[in-house]
Amino acid sequence: MMPAEPAPPRKVHPLRRALPWVLLVGLLAVAQTALVRLTLDYESSRAQERVEQAATLASSDIKQRLGRDLQNLQALLWSDPPPQRWRAGASELLHGRRELVRIELRNLAFDIHAYTESPYRQALFAMLSRESIDVDAEVACATARRLSGPAYSRSYFVPLPGGLGVELLDVCLPVVKEGRLDGFMVASYMLQGLLTEAAGLVSSQNHELAFVEGDGTRLARSGNTARGRGVFVAQRLIDLPGSALQLRLDSATGEPDLIPNLATALVLGLSLALGAVVLLLVRDVRKRAEAEQGLAEALAFRKAMEDSLVTGLRARDGEGRITYVNPAFCEMVGFPAEELIGKMTAQNPPPYWPPEMMAEYSRRQQGRLAGTLPPREGYETVFMRRSGERFPVMVFEAPLVDGQGRHSGWMSAVLDISAQRRAEELSRQQHEKLQATARLATVGEMASLLSHELNQPLAAISSYATGSINMMQEGPLDPATQPLIQQAIERIAEQAERAGRVIKSVHDFVRRREHLREAIRADQLIEAVMPLVRLQARKSATRIEILLPTAPAPMPRVVCDRTMVEQVLLNLTRNGIQAMEELPIEQRVLTLQARQTHPRWVEFSVIDQGLGIADEVAAQLFTPFFTTKSEGMGLGLSLCRTVIEQHGGVLLFENASDDNGGSGACFRFTLASEPSSAASREAAAEQAPASPP
Ligand code: ADP
Repeated sequence: MMPAEPAPPRKVHPLRRALPWVLLVGLLAVAQTALVRLTLDYESSRAQERVEQAATLASSDIKQRLGRDLQNLQALLWSDPPPQRWRAGASELLHGRRELVRIELRNLAFDIHAYTESPYRQALFAMLSRESIDVDAEVACATARRLSGPAYSRSYFVPLPGGLGVELLDVCLPVVKEGRLDGFMVASYMLQGLLTEAAGLVSSQNHELAFVEGDGTRLARSGNTARGRGVFVAQRLIDLPGSALQLRLDSATGEPDLIPNLATALVLGLSLALGAVVLLLVRDVRKRAEAEQGLAEALAFRKAMEDSLVTGLRARDGEGRITYVNPAFCEMVGFPAEELIGKMTAQNPPPYWPPEMMAEYSRRQQGRLAGTLPPREGYETVFMRRSGERFPVMVFEAPLVDGQGRHSGWMSAVLDISAQRRAEELSRQQHEKLQATARLATVGEMASLLSHELNQPLAAISSYATGSINMMQEGPLDPATQPLIQQAIERIAEQAERAGRVIKSVHDFVRRREHLREAIRADQLIEAVMPLVRLQARKSATRIEILLPTAPAPMPRVVCDRTMVEQVLLNLTRNGIQAMEELPIEQRVLTLQARQTHPRWVEFSVIDQGLGIADEVAAQLFTPFFTTKSEGMGLGLSLCRTVIEQHGGVLLFENASDDNGGSGACFRFTLASEPSSAASREAAAEQAPASPP
């Protein structure tokens, strides 16, 4: 197993996986909210600050103006002016100061003895007489008297025709003549007027300016400016001698909007962008998690596949070091992966290299590293198990190409072929046994043939010998009988030799045991079985015809186990001869034919003139032990088919009918022709894929 095999990823609970993201999103939300909150607070405090500043400005302006007016009023009393001059001065003052609406002179009894009204506002006391509402002025004057200086009254309401009215404020100055209090000068202010002047200063900022009472009731408000919203409010107490005025400044701007300015917009924009980034990240992470999951499954699948493989897998890097082995390989050689990984050459050899092969394997590996391609069809070699047992393996090697397309080493598939070798050995032994059995079966049949065939020479020998003995017993040999006896002995020798040949041909056939495939000419194959065929043919007076290609056509050559094919030919000819035993002698003709029917195949035919094969026989023809003959074994044809199929050919039969109305059976089989023969080479080039016809 690979050392760097990635461990299958741990299963992470979805909640745990989501937790960091939930935290991140939460923190982000808190941070963004705080940021927006702070921005809004900052905005608010700035707005409040502006209101406070405006309120201070307005209150100090009002105070200054009141102070200046007081000076002007006191100037009116300087050097005790005659009524005419006082009136002119007061009129001038009223003309210049819009907020002042009336100036009057009163005696100690508080009666008005002179007054002047503002040219801008007259008939203030049209509804109610001045005397009926001068309580506040009186109080102020009492205070002025006590203070020996100016004093202001509380503000009071003066109704006007039309249901409206104005709020007035009086200031009382004591009039002193020759060191004594002589009366009072009362000047009335319209609060509204005071505000209008001050509002001019702050109106650009869109504020509402008002004088209010302690409970918040508005006494007067700056006329034309916007109404306050009650959010940003500043109050200033204008402290006056004898009284005080509450000035209230109320901004027309409300709570700052969520997007009041660029900064907040920017913050919000960034927050949104950040949120989008987080979303993208979450999506990315989810995709990654999915990919991880897919990878884990692919890994698990690969591992399951590797573990289930029965083929050993081994990877080697560019230097020949083993980088990977699968469980099947470890099991095959009996070493754990840890003992195999990293092993490479003779200095540090893999433990499955048999020591006696070390040098050769090292050389082979060097060659491979030098770039020699391994054979595509694989090569056979020997490995060693932990127990020391050597076993044959088939190795298929392929170049290992990495992700960048570089040749990074070799991947080998290793098959333990010891079981296959054992099976082959078993099959070879069985094959030999089969051959021996087949031969024995033939020998049995041959014994009767032999006895028949040997009878003739033996009978001849016996009669020649009897004749010679008789001649010699008749007395001493005369010169006339001697040549006769010599001739008889020569005949005896001839017949003995003939008998010997018969026995030898059978002996040769039975003794030949080699079963290797070899290339052999078709005529040689037929010729080899002819002595035995002729024996049988002669017994039943059958004529044998052999049809072979005549020169200049080349004689076909086949690759086969000749002993077995000879056996097939013998079986087929024997069946053919037996099938014609009932026919008139002149019809008993058996034809043996061999011809090249295809560049890769040679066909042999055995044709008889018998009755052919009936349908019910045909159905079981190749079934072992099926026979219609009293002395038959029923093994011949099934054996023939096995042999031919083992050679890659086919054995077929058909009932032939010739033009003369004759019939008979034709058995044909094919054998592979020798590949090197010129004819087959040419034709093979023309028709590459070919199967047995
Ligand atoms: P056996 O010859 O011992 O009977 P075979 O397997 O060789 O066994 O043949 C099986 C049967 O096929 C034969 O009994 C015969 O009936 C039939 N047979 C074989 N060859 C021929 C032939 N050339 N003509 C007619 N019948 C045949």
